[in-house]
Amino acid sequence: MYLVKTPWLLSKIYSSLTWKIAVEDQSIFLTFDDGPHPVVTTFVLDTLQQYNAKATFFCLGKNVEQFPDVYARILNDGHRVGNHSQDHLNGWKTDDATYLNNVMTARKFIDSNLYRPPYGRISNFQVQQLKKKFRIIMWDVLSADFDLKITPEKCLKYVVSNTKAGSIIVFHDSEKAYSRLKYALPKALEFFIEKGFSFRVIE
Ligand SMILES: [Zn+2]
Repeated sequence: MYLVKTPWLLSKIYSSLTWKIAVEDQSIFLTFDDGPHPVVTTFVLDTLQQYNAKATFFCLGKNVEQFPDVYARILNDGHRVGNHSQDHLNGWKTDDATYLNNVMTARKFIDSNLYRPPYGRISNFQVQQLKKKFRIIMWDVLSADFDLKITPEKCLKYVVSNTKAGSIIVFHDSEKAYSRLKYALPKALEFFIEKGFSFRVIE
């Protein structure tokens, strides 16, 4: 089960996490989790370039290790990177020492003070520990591109109907998400740019 729009109660409990960004202009913050991937991340980078959009990529350390050239291009293209742990561990199901060590391992490959917990699942203790080194970035709009049961059109609709100025949108540069992402990303970019929005990295 997942919610496309983050309920206000949850954001209140985890008020030390970033769920959206206060902006005075029409900025939107695109984020891509689980890469880098040679095909999917390259598609995302080409698409962003075409629309002159910037984004933040929450990478897995193990994928950066495997595809250093794709990782290098993310940075060369002027995007930002964040830590998404080494092996995509679930904070609710992993003991704290293992979880925190896994984030620190990823830090050897990903130079960033941004962190996003895999599955959005993280305990209060883990938050308190990681807060010392990272700004923890959640989201307010989930594209659900990872959901094999939804159509690409529905994925686009989630994004278009829930995004506002300051929103943090989650997509995935992963194989699983690719068929929905491929359709929804260019259409979402086109839709919001036409309405005067711009896409920026998370500072
Ligand atoms: Zn993830």
